[in-house]
Amino acid sequence: MNEDKIEFNRPYMTGKELGYIAEAKFGNMLAGDGPFTKRCHRWLEETSHVKTALLTHSCTAALEMAALLLDIKPGDEVIMPSFTFVSTANAFVLRGAVPVFVDIRPDTLNLDERLVEAAITPQTRAIVPVHYAGVACEMDSLLAIADRHGLMVVEDAAQGVMATYKGRVLGSIGDLGAYSFHETKNVISGEGGALLVNEGGLSARAEIIREKGTDRSRFFRGQVDKYTWQEVGSSFLPGELTAAFLWAQFEQATMITQARLAAWNYYHEQLEVLETEGLVRRPIVPEECGHNAHMYYILIHPDANRQNIIEALKARSISAVFHYVPLHSSPGGLKYGRAHGSMNVTDDVASRIIRLPMWVNISNEQQSRVIDVLSASLKHEVAGL
Ligand SMILES: *Cc1c(COP(=O)(O)O)cnc(C)c1O
Repeated sequence: MNEDKIEFNRPYMTGKELGYIAEAKFGNMLAGDGPFTKRCHRWLEETSHVKTALLTHSCTAALEMAALLLDIKPGDEVIMPSFTFVSTANAFVLRGAVPVFVDIRPDTLNLDERLVEAAITPQTRAIVPVHYAGVACEMDSLLAIADRHGLMVVEDAAQGVMATYKGRVLGSIGDLGAYSFHETKNVISGEGGALLVNEGGLSARAEIIREKGTDRSRFFRGQVDKYTWQEVGSSFLPGELTAAFLWAQFEQATMITQARLAAWNYYHEQLEVLETEGLVRRPIVPEECGHNAHMYYILIHPDANRQNIIEALKARSISAVFHYVPLHSSPGGLKYGRAHGSMNVTDDVASRIIRLPMWVNISNEQQSRVIDVLSASLKHEVAGL
């Protein structure tokens, strides 16, 4: 059979990226914090209503900046889900902190806010909710817990660009928020990210930490006559070519989100039958969450062999993947972190999840092919039960 390949992800280009890169080049502005970076900062600040937004070279870098900004010290504890990408934990482990893993909600696969308070100790400094699949965590509850215990909230909003919770933009709700513009995310620049600073008192230090621990940003604005080393920092800013690429994406961010939502909704409607038959569970999006269709995942019947299903899709040139080997049981997690309480939901979800191909302009025909193969394979797997 000669079928078109259906990749898991196809990075979307708006068509303006290379023109803007040429513009940056001819302006001889190649290092960071040039005109495109400034435009991106303003756009992020206007769309999210935070005090300060700063581009970084990745979401990982933004999370590392957050750990520095919060003065995280060896022995401090940071509460987070185990069902997340390694950078959520690494950023804090780099400062000597202990990630304390808490189980996730079975509906949204987000940090279970009902389990957080019991995990707090005198060493706890911060809570790091991860907005999985661009669906918001229960932020009001988490903010109330943080408030009661004097903890900071750092949103890992890597997947949450253009998504909302009760009308508020993800990444702008806690004290700090981190975005990713990696090519597998919705709005992209190859590698890229941003730190959103909602707690105004942290803005000045955020600028310093991002510029190698110096007050170079103030120097460029003419506020000081030389720049000097102020505190611990690193080089967290992207070059201007990356910002130029990203600006083209920001201009189309609404269109990108709408196109993804259309594809997401098609999967959701077409998979209802399989859910009724008990073969899959579809994503659940609470009413207060305006999601961004970052991904379409399914949880397969517990008796179906996931590898067989992924192989069956692959045999028809369809690339589907699973992810998050839970952190609490990984070699790094065992060495640097600890689990608080049962990780039953995390372990169950991690063993049953499959992410389906999703990108801007995936056609309904391609999606139907994915569903047909998936459906046949699931029925074959679960037959005779
Ligand atoms: C993608 C992702 C990251 C890392 O983003 P980078 O930009 O690649 O550093 C961190 N956390 C979560 C939840 C992610 O999905």
